[in-house]
Amino acid sequence: LEVIASVEPRIAAATRQELTDQRGSLKLIASENYASPAVLLTMGTWFSDKYAEGTVGHRFYAGCQNVDTVESLAAEHARELFGAPYAYVQPHSGIDANLVAFWSILANRVETPYLAKMQAKNVNELTEADWETLRHEFGNQRLLGMSLDAGGHLTHGFRPNISGKMFHQQQYGTDPGTGLLDYDAVAAKAREFKPLVLVAGYSAYPRRVNFAKMREIADEVGAVLMVDMAHFAGLVAGKVFTGEEDPVPFAHITTTTTHKSLRGPRGGMVLAQEEFAADVDRGCPMVLGGPLSHVMAAKAVAFAEARQPSFQTYAQKVADNAKSLAEGFLTRGANLVTGGTDNHIVLLDVSSYGLTGRQAESALLDAGVVTNRNSVPADPNGAWYTSGVRLGTPALTTRGFGHDEFDKVAELIVDVLEHTEAGTTKAGGPSKASYVLGDGVADRVTSQSAEM
Ligand code: PLP
Repeated sequence: LEVIASVEPRIAAATRQELTDQRGSLKLIASENYASPAVLLTMGTWFSDKYAEGTVGHRFYAGCQNVDTVESLAAEHARELFGAPYAYVQPHSGIDANLVAFWSILANRVETPYLAKMQAKNVNELTEADWETLRHEFGNQRLLGMSLDAGGHLTHGFRPNISGKMFHQQQYGTDPGTGLLDYDAVAAKAREFKPLVLVAGYSAYPRRVNFAKMREIADEVGAVLMVDMAHFAGLVAGKVFTGEEDPVPFAHITTTTTHKSLRGPRGGMVLAQEEFAADVDRGCPMVLGGPLSHVMAAKAVAFAEARQPSFQTYAQKVADNAKSLAEGFLTRGANLVTGGTDNHIVLLDVSSYGLTGRQAESALLDAGVVTNRNSVPADPNGAWYTSGVRLGTPALTTRGFGHDEFDKVAELIVDVLEHTEAGTTKAGGPSKASYVLGDGVADRVTSQSAEM
């Protein structure tokens, strides 16, 4: 920080403050975590200075031998970790990974002269008319994904997102009574709509998905099954989700972020079955430019960490802690979407406290509890104000929280919400985050801050 301060002290100060804030509050944002020092340090090296467009051994720049080592290792670790035939570690983010997946599916499946000439390796013979056909055909395909208010992600066909514009899209939701995925309803929609791409995966659905069933639906209608496991990749890597709950063997293409429950650097990745490997490999130049070599290096380090037995223990605790948090709420009379959780997410419906999600989010922040407001299914308050607060256990599990601490977290949150007046954003109750940040945790916060 001293080096940074000698150039721009305000950035050094903000960086120090960010550490204090992240360690001194209760980080319950379901998509966040604390990456290890090894991962963080790997991102801050001179690999950041290197351009390496292309793929391993086929770069558009000279001097990429060390980047080749890094990218190969990251891909190898990823294949081993997830049991995937092919891994593409270049995407800069989850959205990039999904874009690479979409274009790979189009290139692989849409019957045009482009596809035929790609297969015959005659891409240079494409005529203007061929490109016109391609633009027309690619722009005419269908995607079916989970709706945002049921827990899906923007990139799963939400209208304002590019995925809802580049495809004709329809969305599936959850059962209005139980809040659970209704596979028969998804199948019925798929039969009627006949999508090219069926997207499974979620950002705010607090339950596991049966990917064998999703694949059956895709196969029945001739769709490609794409699973976006950005949120729960850590639970797959940690072998909490196995069998039909592990998407990798069932999906044609699996995408993920590397920074959420997987606890790596911010970034994305695409895993694919062999038949899609060559198309995904064209992520650059199709969608991406130069890969972030320093981040690919940090992905390799994070995947190596996730291959250790201790990561499986961590992942199991993430799931166990989510159950403890949910129980803590239910015993205190709170309403949870789907009535509980069996992954790392708890979706709290705050309308019974007379609050919107936005008010609850602000009140909790005031008490040192960092969350994000989230729609609940068929949310009467819309996507901006919402009626829910999404909570996740990956970050605080990294900090060593267990059953008792998460029970206290639930107590604290209920206390704050019960003492918050509708229309205000201030926490009314006496509780503060320090309430839970007692034994040991506060000491660790102080010592880590001091170390920097
Ligand atoms: N996919 C899912 C399911 C997500 O939850 C997210 C992030 O919130 C993304 C993709 C996008 O990831 P990123 O923010 O890295 O682009």
